[in-house]
Amino acid sequence: MTDSKCSRCDEDAVITREFEGRSLCKEHFTIDINKTVKKTIRDGNLVESGDTIAVGLSGGKDSAVMLQQLVEIFGKRPDIEIVGVCVHEGIDPYRDESISAAEELCDDLGVECYIGSYDDYYDLKMDDVADAGEKGNCTYCGIMRRDLLNKLCREVDADKMAIGHNLDDEAQSIMMNHIKGDMKRLARIGPKDDPANHEMFVERIKPLRDVMEREVALFSRLHDLGVIDRCPHVQEGSLRPMVKSFLNKLESEMPGIKYSIVSQGREISDMVEDNMDWEGEENEIQECERCGEPCSSDVCRKCQLLVEIKDAAAESSEHDFER
Ligand SMILES: [Zn+2]
Ligand SMILES: [Zn+2]
Repeated sequence: MTDSKCSRCDEDAVITREFEGRSLCKEHFTIDINKTVKKTIRDGNLVESGDTIAVGLSGGKDSAVMLQQLVEIFGKRPDIEIVGVCVHEGIDPYRDESISAAEELCDDLGVECYIGSYDDYYDLKMDDVADAGEKGNCTYCGIMRRDLLNKLCREVDADKMAIGHNLDDEAQSIMMNHIKGDMKRLARIGPKDDPANHEMFVERIKPLRDVMEREVALFSRLHDLGVIDRCPHVQEGSLRPMVKSFLNKLESEMPGIKYSIVSQGREISDMVEDNMDWEGEENEIQECERCGEPCSSDVCRKCQLLVEIKDAAAESSEHDFER
């Protein structure tokens, strides 16, 4: 809450946007977020007539706000179907709680919810493999979740998968690709995210990419959407948290900087796309020898990781036994 009044009416403001020099009450903030999401969808041509949109749900605020907005915008359209998809990683009790939150939300919004678990698809639980591998839990989990979400989307015949990336996530990714000099990834960043041109990859869309994280959080609080979740196995790489805190510092000194990073990122990615010679650079997409999923080598990263974590877990249980 702020002490100021809404710039559009007499109500108390719930947010002040320094970079715009205006404050908004709950009602006008809600209208504004909806307008922003609609604009992102329209400008990026993210949703087309006939689409089935699978919304990746985590139980957290981003995906909850995204589902609520998509239902609000497209819920009455007979030519567009919205379904929820959710991955159970096998993390107790965090995941059970967030899954029930996702199911409850889908129920409230009248949307079908499909759940797939690592246990059913990969015969493992994150609780059993946490801290086992060399790469950090989020790396393993992230690759498996991506793989499983894509699979679930195909199972529900989705044309697109909506992911809850907000403006902060997007600004971080742009900065990280600059820092790493990853031109290919930089060129690919945008409201639509096609991992590779292959019919087995479901195209990903980001309806929240123009909404700042703190505004997604405020929206979820005001409308009672999503649960506060913090995975107990969090082990992120080191770059993203550093970039995140740097961008937050920058934003507090220079309000609006995240918006300009994302809008410049869009221009830069178009320029890179137009000017780079990708000839011979693109890896050929083939099917994984083990699981049949599309990938750029003989065995996909997920299958490589599965072997790695199962070996590491077996080794550590042997050590436990020796002790
Ligand atoms: Zn107002
Ligand atoms: Zn595979």
